[in-house]
Amino acid sequence: MNVPLLDLKPQLASLRPQILEAVTRVIDSTGYILGKEVNELEEKIARYSEAAYGVGVSSGTDALLASLMSLDIGPGDLVLTTPYTFFATMGTVLRVGAQPVFVDVEPDSLNMDPQRAAEALEADRKAGSRIKAMIPVHLYGQCADMQRIMDLSRTYEVPVIEDAAQAIGAEFPFEENGAVTWRRAGSMGLCGCFSFFPSKNLGGIGDGGMITTSDKAFADILKSNRNHGAEPKYYHSRVGGNFRLDPIQAAVLSIKLDYLENWHAGRRRNAASYRQLFEDAGLIGAPVTLPTEVYLRKAGAEQHNHHIYNQFVIHVPQRDALRQFLQEHSIGCEIYYPLCLHQQECLRSKTFKAQSFPVAEQAAANSLALPIFPELHHDQLAYVVETIKRFYHGG
Ligand SMILES: *Cc1c(COP(=O)(O)O)cnc(C)c1O
Repeated sequence: MNVPLLDLKPQLASLRPQILEAVTRVIDSTGYILGKEVNELEEKIARYSEAAYGVGVSSGTDALLASLMSLDIGPGDLVLTTPYTFFATMGTVLRVGAQPVFVDVEPDSLNMDPQRAAEALEADRKAGSRIKAMIPVHLYGQCADMQRIMDLSRTYEVPVIEDAAQAIGAEFPFEENGAVTWRRAGSMGLCGCFSFFPSKNLGGIGDGGMITTSDKAFADILKSNRNHGAEPKYYHSRVGGNFRLDPIQAAVLSIKLDYLENWHAGRRRNAASYRQLFEDAGLIGAPVTLPTEVYLRKAGAEQHNHHIYNQFVIHVPQRDALRQFLQEHSIGCEIYYPLCLHQQECLRSKTFKAQSFPVAEQAAANSLALPIFPELHHDQLAYVVETIKRFYHGG
């Protein structure tokens, strides 16, 4: 049996006529820069993500870059984030000339540890308040602890850029005045950054991204910055870039957005099946640690974080050998991420390599993402679990 990590063909097959019609419509319109398709998607994503405005951009990376530029973050400034995320979270900080400050992640969610963030912000306040933004990452499709992170944002007056590239539609139980309100990724910080890279839950037929915000003034700066800071045309009060979303991508994404809740449900169903299969196989705890859906005590009740499973990541001993075994048995799997950001070669400063983030480093050593896309069949999931069992117990 063949179980790819991700196969986009079944999704394409179900939407092919609509997608071709949308692409043809854009081509025939001869309006190839921004315009109606982009405006419509911006409104739809803003509504979906429960924010007031959407700003379509060229990628998730450019969403982060434009957000940092729109906060005027640059040389001498620091940005607080985690060492366990996709490179772009840090790469964009370095590209604006600022430096990252890393704090370790929580062992269950692998998201920013608010206690560590509080310590870093307190130390920074004593050292002159150079931290100008925080970028929590909603890793694998599960929100960071935004309640505590937004409390820190208010206390230390540091704006929050949510890296929601993997988490469109994920929800966090926010407690306000003794009641719980479910808030969507991208609606809690100053802004949220989304990616439409084809492997994300909502993927384009190429690169694309979106920034959501409910701050009108900030939305205006973002819109100006995605177009070279021109306001009006040919008059530049700031230096932005070409970060525009392509209307072909916008038209395709608009179609796909209508199916997104179903796809999330498919991924969540697959996650539940994996849990049952791993349990039946007697593998839970040792050797396999399953991904946690974090439970938080809110307004007198347990509420769980609504995970959209962009990735289903297990933690295992002998990870590299298991990965090879699965690949030999035609099962796709991947490591997100094999090296923490503070250990990356491009960070020449020795101070980063001397730092230690044990939870992130442990995750880099033993995490393995399994196939989770919505169209997988139950027998494929069963084959994955069976093969993992065979690796550890033989037979
Ligand atoms: C995918 C991703 C990005 C970058 O998005 P692109 O559209 O590929 O530029 C940024 N951060 C995280 C956490 C991501 O997973």
